[in-house]
Amino acid sequence: MGVPMAAPRDLRGRPAAPGRALGAVHRAEERPLPSGPPGESDARAALEAAAALAAGELKALSERSDEESAGILDFQIELLLDGELLAPALERIGKGEGAALAFAAAMNAHMDTIAGGGDAFALRAADLADLKSRVLDALAGRTRADFPQGTVYVGRDMPPSLFLAHDWSGGGGIALSAGSAASHVAMLARSRGVPMVVGLGALPVESGDRLLVDGSEGVVRLDPEERLLSPPPSVVAAPVPYAGVAPRARLFANIDTLADLDTLDPALVEGVGLVRTEFLLPSAAEVLDEECHLARYRRILDRLAGRPVTLRLLDVGGDKALPGLVEGSPASVLGERGVRFLIAHPDLARLQARALLRAAAHGPVSVLLPMVTLPAELVAMAQLFDEEAARLERQGIAFARPPLGIMVEVPASAFTLDLFTQAAFFSVGTNDLMQYLAAAARDNPAVAHLYAGAETAMFRLLEHIATTARAIGRPVSLCGDLAAEPAALSRLLDIGLHDLSVAPSRLAGLRAALAGDA
Ligand code: PEP
Ligand code: MG
Repeated sequence: MGVPMAAPRDLRGRPAAPGRALGAVHRAEERPLPSGPPGESDARAALEAAAALAAGELKALSERSDEESAGILDFQIELLLDGELLAPALERIGKGEGAALAFAAAMNAHMDTIAGGGDAFALRAADLADLKSRVLDALAGRTRADFPQGTVYVGRDMPPSLFLAHDWSGGGGIALSAGSAASHVAMLARSRGVPMVVGLGALPVESGDRLLVDGSEGVVRLDPEERLLSPPPSVVAAPVPYAGVAPRARLFANIDTLADLDTLDPALVEGVGLVRTEFLLPSAAEVLDEECHLARYRRILDRLAGRPVTLRLLDVGGDKALPGLVEGSPASVLGERGVRFLIAHPDLARLQARALLRAAAHGPVSVLLPMVTLPAELVAMAQLFDEEAARLERQGIAFARPPLGIMVEVPASAFTLDLFTQAAFFSVGTNDLMQYLAAAARDNPAVAHLYAGAETAMFRLLEHIATTARAIGRPVSLCGDLAAEPAALSRLLDIGLHDLSVAPSRLAGLRAALAGDA
């Protein structure tokens, strides 16, 4: 309910991303949580409904088109409605595969069989590729609509995919009744400079009401005065020169989206320490398209102009849903996420491995495996890379074999780094390491004090990690948010963690802290 004509009123939550935003409220629809994991019959029904939706869209398009285009579209509709196209995907669903993966794998197999068959077949392959992305888009539920630019998103929590799909260039902010400062969406908001407050409890506002979000203070103001629009001068950090602060630490950038490249001056970093490919390719249609992977990786390599780039394999599951492919759920925080998901879905892992192998032919690429627990997971992925490299070789496609390293973000691997003999390097993910160490989910506000409070355990473990990595002669860097915390800096450097990878928006603050620490 809005509060017309009332005096400004502040509600306190917790700061999640600094800065201020004033705008009209966009209240998210609260959807009931799904009652359980989708079963086979749900997946069949979802695929059939997506195919019907795609066919309906093509029909509407065909009716508005000239004769020649309509002919092409009608051909696509026939393909879709012809049971033969869906049959192999339905068979995969019968074996337990999810709808999007089953459909993409079946379509890829179909396109592989007609590849190399001359011009007529090339045309047919293009039709199939088009159909594939249409159906995958439909499966991902395009109807989960974006919200107006410049508004303040108000909801219980916000899925990272919604954040990524939204155009923030027109401003706006986020005010969540639940949520957490350690969640992925908060991390994205900090890196994109979108003010965000979490843990506000019930917010008495409706769509259209004016709301001021002060992400630095962790406060939202109802019925704010317009003069509050201008940000306080302290929000704008003065640039700090790079020269003179390098010797104590080497700074790298974390890249989540191609937009991050625009805010990064590659000359001021050693390279890219982490690319979160699950954010770089945020839809099922993109993730299941090898050429799309390759094009994005090459954009990053081109921009970095010869500096090293570490790309992480897809880290889906946990709070990182990929609509249409993986539903994020609290259960999967301790379940099939990261490398576990990839090992369970080798078609997807192979597709990404091929794109990474091909990208490595264009620049200095390293590959990171997320959520590794046991050496056997690294061995399995290394073998998968070898097999895909051999396949590219046979196909005469250029590739290079990138070094494989692991994210250290599960306590079991953190305590046994010496057993990971095949790892070329280590990168510590303190965001997840903290949640698994403290048994406190990073996006659960009820245990946020435990997440933040387990700092002593974290630093003891970091010391162990740095000592072991040194002893076995492997480089180790830190790419979790702790790397960007000025208050942690001297302790990290004392432990011997000198390679720090942070969001581009945090580089200036870190350089300032380094200059002060020198
Ligand atoms: C981490 O866990 O610290 C990390 C860098 O990975 P992400 O935040 O993407 O889970
Ligand atoms: Mg992580």
